[in-house]
Amino acid sequence: MIRSEILREIAPIIRDHLVVCNIGLPSQELHMIDDQPTNFYMLGTMGLSSSIGFGLALAQDKPVISIDGDGSVLTNLGTLPTIANNATGNYTLLIIDNGSYGSTGDQPTYAGRKTSLAAVARACGCDNVFEVQAKDLGPVLQEAIDNNEMTILVCKCDSGNIKVPVITMDPVVIRHRFMEAVAK
Ligand SMILES: [Mg+2]
Repeated sequence: MIRSEILREIAPIIRDHLVVCNIGLPSQELHMIDDQPTNFYMLGTMGLSSSIGFGLALAQDKPVISIDGDGSVLTNLGTLPTIANNATGNYTLLIIDNGSYGSTGDQPTYAGRKTSLAAVARACGCDNVFEVQAKDLGPVLQEAIDNNEMTILVCKCDSGNIKVPVITMDPVVIRHRFMEAVAK
């Protein structure tokens, strides 16, 4: 499975929750598959999906899911100790690990070689870290959202991209409707 197939599969699970989605193709794919006002599409700030989502989870009580990538987490490894040491039960970090920098042309990342992001997350002090295969993700993600324990999911999948349009919505509109969804 590739990332877009995973997003299609989990769309019904995350639809009613606050979602912060990684920059580039992940956001474009999620927008195309199931645009929701509860989705915050990052149009900049590579690496910060986990940080933005985590801050949001700390700031209010609703469940928050950050959809991040392996290349993105490798860009911002400092996020993992921060998350580990300030755990909040309403936060789920989903790292879609396709072993590549998908949005820039599928250049391989070290997560596809010797570096295990699940092992890194555990070493940083994160509890409830699970590496799952793409085909098994749905029920595991549902459980992570439903339980009151912060969970880090590293979903291993194939690299590959589909043709997908850019998001033409104004960033201010994305932010505004997301803030309204948070406040509801
Ligand atoms: Mg990747």
